[in-house]
Amino acid sequence: MLPRELISSQKIATRVRELAKEIDAGLPPGPVTVVGVLRGAFMFMADLVRELPREIVCDFLAVRSYGDATVSSGVVEITADLQTPIAGRHVLLVEDIVDTGLTMRYLLDFLRARGPASLHTCVMLRKRVAAAHSTPVDFLAFDDLPDQFLVGYGLDAAQIYRNLSYIGAIERQSA
Ligand code: IMP
Repeated sequence: MLPRELISSQKIATRVRELAKEIDAGLPPGPVTVVGVLRGAFMFMADLVRELPREIVCDFLAVRSYGDATVSSGVVEITADLQTPIAGRHVLLVEDIVDTGLTMRYLLDFLRARGPASLHTCVMLRKRVAAAHSTPVDFLAFDDLPDQFLVGYGLDAAQIYRNLSYIGAIERQSA
């Protein structure tokens, strides 16, 4: 059975276009390095950068969070580093989802240590949980998602569902 739809592909496309305008207006002028966090942000980032009328370098970080498939442990390991220097550049970090916010904080510290000219965050989904709201986010596509396990549009449960064109929810115990 396919996951229950929460956000349709049409809604995603409309919001990504709006968000790109917000980002273009909100970032300092000039070239930007967009850093996507693999693998969850790959689809969102691919759609987003196509709507950004800027000179853009696309780079990626791969991270592994420990814990089981559906519960964040907060312990993060960088499994693939950036391929380009970011010192002195404007950087936009693109993340799939803020749940506890631990991954985001870790990555912000990691990138800040490389001396970017500016560092902004763009997040696809934020859950309706207190911890998620304590993490600063500059640009957000969808807020107040239910505290369920979200899949699709890049997000997985044990590596499946990433290819869904919509965002859905599954029962935690079924992952
Ligand atoms: P954190 O709890 O904010 O540190 O979230 C860590 C990472 O866990 C996110 O970047 C996602 O990759 C993953 N994650 C958290 N909640 C979900 C979810 O509902 N669906 C899919 N992945 C999730």
